[in-house]
Amino acid sequence: MKNKLLIITASFLFAVGCKNDKNQSKEDLIKRAYAIHDKVLTLDTHADTPLRMIEPGFDMSVRHDPKKTGSKVDYPRMKEGGLDAIFFAAFVAQDIRDDDGNGRAKSLCLQMIDSITTSIDRNSDKVGLALNPEDAYTLEKEGKHAIYIGIENGYPIGSDISNVELYYNKGVRYITLVHSSNNDLADSATDPHGTEHNGISDLGAKVIGEMNRLGIMVDVSHGNDSVFYDAIKMSKAPIIASHSNARAVTNHKRNFTDEMLKLIAKNRGVVQLTMLSNYLREAKPNVMRDSVLAIFRTNMKEVSEMNTDERDDYREKINLINKRYPDPSANVGHVVDHIDHIVKIAGIDHVGIGCDFDGGGGIDGVFDVSEIKNITVELVRRGYNEAQIEKIWGGNLLRVFREVQAYAKKAGNNSI
Ligand SMILES: [Zn+2]
Repeated sequence: MKNKLLIITASFLFAVGCKNDKNQSKEDLIKRAYAIHDKVLTLDTHADTPLRMIEPGFDMSVRHDPKKTGSKVDYPRMKEGGLDAIFFAAFVAQDIRDDDGNGRAKSLCLQMIDSITTSIDRNSDKVGLALNPEDAYTLEKEGKHAIYIGIENGYPIGSDISNVELYYNKGVRYITLVHSSNNDLADSATDPHGTEHNGISDLGAKVIGEMNRLGIMVDVSHGNDSVFYDAIKMSKAPIIASHSNARAVTNHKRNFTDEMLKLIAKNRGVVQLTMLSNYLREAKPNVMRDSVLAIFRTNMKEVSEMNTDERDDYREKINLINKRYPDPSANVGHVVDHIDHIVKIAGIDHVGIGCDFDGGGGIDGVFDVSEIKNITVELVRRGYNEAQIEKIWGGNLLRVFREVQAYAKKAGNNSI
């Protein structure tokens, strides 16, 4: 009897001990991950937040509720998430490719860039404009977030190559050549009509030459596979993919095959992981949801062209569809599965993070910018050390940026 009691007591104590150890180690791990996250420079290479910035009354210095407003980035949440630097992309949806269309695209692009610089001026105690790789570190030391500018879709360049320098002078440091349908520069991975230039057009090649000369990073996300191979051949400096994942893990046209990942390593470029569920895990068939969405989207305007009332109405309806026909999100585990794979194929020096917040990005556990520390926690849990995490969270991208600038300097850009 006495022995039995002893055994029961011992096993109880053992169980309690194990539980404590487990909790303790989980707490320790989170603490360790947060310490690393705070220490390293964290950079997200892709957010479509300027789409929100141009909305009348949208204030970046105010914390927004992502569930109610759909907004994924503002300055208070960047601070909460410990994000030191971000590329805000001036995104222009593809439209008619003639002089009128090109002109409208250019005005909208300039308006978006202005909205970024105005927001920076208004919040100069919290953020600063970053033009060079070192600026991110300088601003971090000043306790400010670094704001870089990119352009998503080369459409606003139109047929006038001098626009590349105009955008460079406005602070643009990467250009995504193409978006979800073909433009005059390149083929899209997702154009329903398929390929048009068989990769990058002659005009696109000239634009890449101009980007190299000035020190603007060439971004191949959204391009089809031929665009990737052409860009590698044409660009004199390493290239980037500001928001793309691994195709061997999730079979999606926007993701890169292992062959492409090996080539980007050879090119000394970088693939920035993105938080779009459909690029992170195979979606389960959901016929009801797909047909409801298809009907809803028929004849729908681009979100960027909606007025405030139309946009509110759109969000309300999307929320309702999500509630009635839920589509389970990807999670942080999926993100790090892609990172693991890219590290295995291309190496630790060729992977980074570009969440695509405010452009569709946001998953379970990284729903908005305030939650990005969860990526670091998962990286630490899988055994990544501080030096590796530093590379993933921005070191790699900034190394590419330095190489791009070094080429431009050699090519005669004296402003670097
Ligand atoms: Zn995109």
